[in-house]
Amino acid sequence: MKPLIAGNWKMNGLAASLLEVEKLGGLMGGRAPADRDVLICPPATLLAALAARAGAYGVFAGGQDCHPAPSGAHTGDISAEMLADAGARFVIVGHSERRADHGETDALARAKAEAALRAGLTPIVCVGETRAQREAGEAEAVVARQLAGSLPQTGVFVVAYEPVWAIGTGLTPTLEDIGAMHAFIRDRAGPEARILYGGSVKPANAAGILAVANVNGALVGGASLKAEDFHAIIAAASP
Ligand code: PEP
Repeated sequence: MKPLIAGNWKMNGLAASLLEVEKLGGLMGGRAPADRDVLICPPATLLAALAARAGAYGVFAGGQDCHPAPSGAHTGDISAEMLADAGARFVIVGHSERRADHGETDALARAKAEAALRAGLTPIVCVGETRAQREAGEAEAVVARQLAGSLPQTGVFVVAYEPVWAIGTGLTPTLEDIGAMHAFIRDRAGPEARILYGGSVKPANAAGILAVANVNGALVGGASLKAEDFHAIIAAASP
């Protein structure tokens, strides 16, 4: 399965940050490797400009969130159709920061994933347990519940397993724990879904994580902001 290395810039980036795309293109020798997919999800303000530049290097652009409706009276929201129109090919839905900051539920994540498919985008559906849930032995039950409630009923989708306690903390599960959870997700998401690991993926740990069975790529936050680090993670992904 072709790995997908996806960068999530979150609420970071001004126009000058687009220079990182040019740097990344240069580090890749002008083109993303044909045997892996590379994606950057910038803030919506930069999406169209980033998509135009990234396309020249074979790098995909994506949104970080979308509204379930195609258009309408939803001040401040952005639809999947708008993201597609701006050049997006993917959209992240159900990220734990959306779940925590905006009270997003599994049902809403599913509605957003289905909106993405309607607009011709591939949704990246995020799941993952908190530290307390893992310590209570509930990690698999939590992820099973999120998958059952968040995945679209049909269509091509990507799952991102992102333990909440690993995001932005420098902590990661053991490779054994990542492998066990990805196998658990594989059983529920089906053979076609790419399953990304996310949570403190860095150049130093990427090769080990990406070599784990059923890890089909990475969702990268902090380390995607700097072209050198993101490139090192891309280089570590062998199909
Ligand atoms: C993320 O939030 O999707 C993420 C994986 O962040 P970081 O890599 O910074 O932990």
